[in-house]
Amino acid sequence: MTVEGPSRKHACIRGRTNTSKLCLLGLLLAAAGCEGDSSPKHDRALPEPLPELPERATPGRDRARLVRIDVYGASAEDAAGARVVLLFEGAPLFQQKQLPAEGILPARIAIELEDVEWGDTVPVSQSVERGGLQRVRLATPNPRVVLDLQPGATGRLFYLTDPYRIVVDVSAVSHSRPKRRPLVVLDPGHGGREPGAANDQYGLVESQVALDLAELTASRLSAIMPRVRVMLTRSTDVDLSLEERCALANAMEADAFVSIHLNASHEPVRKGGVTTFVLDTTNNRQALRLAARENGTRVAEVTGIQGLLAKHHRRAQAEGSRTLAGKIQRHTLKRGRSVLPKLADRGVRQAMFYVLVGARMPSVLIEASFVTYEPEAHALTRHNYRRALADGIASGIASYLLAR
Ligand SMILES: [Zn+2]
Repeated sequence: MTVEGPSRKHACIRGRTNTSKLCLLGLLLAAAGCEGDSSPKHDRALPEPLPELPERATPGRDRARLVRIDVYGASAEDAAGARVVLLFEGAPLFQQKQLPAEGILPARIAIELEDVEWGDTVPVSQSVERGGLQRVRLATPNPRVVLDLQPGATGRLFYLTDPYRIVVDVSAVSHSRPKRRPLVVLDPGHGGREPGAANDQYGLVESQVALDLAELTASRLSAIMPRVRVMLTRSTDVDLSLEERCALANAMEADAFVSIHLNASHEPVRKGGVTTFVLDTTNNRQALRLAARENGTRVAEVTGIQGLLAKHHRRAQAEGSRTLAGKIQRHTLKRGRSVLPKLADRGVRQAMFYVLVGARMPSVLIEASFVTYEPEAHALTRHNYRRALADGIASGIASYLLAR
């Protein structure tokens, strides 16, 4: 996380904030589409405008604009899934339809957009042919984005704000694969233009420390569990969207996803400490503020959408996430205290971190120490403390994998 200020922008994804009833409706539609109607609907014209949308009649409301369509996670030939992200300027009004295969047409997910324009750079058709996805295309005259699915693939959709994004997670049909080695994906927070939190006095930048911790964790985990494969979402100082991080773990069918961050606070803190988060709703103000900063959004956005997003979190997986979080928290504290005996235990908490939304495996986010708390900042400048934290994270993951 980071200290907010004009000079340092935090998260990778940032945009104009303009919450409206439109975007909330979009969320409701998305939630309804994912949760409820499983019967495929046939393609038809757009529904009549909905009466509860006063904005639609408001003259001068900016049309939403489709800026980009990104496909993540489908680079490997045997990808188990793919994530499609539609990025907008302004709040789009949309409806999703699941369409069955008809004649030569494959099964499709159609996202029907109302009153939306798109930029020239948005490709009319992108061939994917991996991860359950054949292609992504723009269809006219009704403006809509169509995802052509591979046989047996399914998709689910959710919606994020600030900036507005429609996200579709596609799962390829699962072949019964031979038993394979467990895979852990480590995600060093931030990177590139988003350095995260910083402490200038000690020369600490969150994105760099997180990357170092992730590399140390990876080498430790490989040493104590040679059978386990470990992947990093980034190994250099590059931009990486929150969506892409989790999409990689999904596509690779990872067994655990651990996002590594460093905490910070505006106010002087009397104690720092370690916190491990799982994805869930919360009313805790600190957790809301932290999630807003890590997500690069506002607290109001987090409170506004967390209930709906939580519906998309799989309950069965929540238990695994809690177990993983508990073990990482305990082991990281134990190792960290070998260097800093007074390292505080902030416990396992819950918060709405976008990076964890849609993950199909147990997934946690650790705030490994405070870069703004003097004793921890000082310790973080030293290799032995970083090593201790990384050993703790690795031991926690190993303990989780062994107990499954
Ligand atoms: Zn962070």
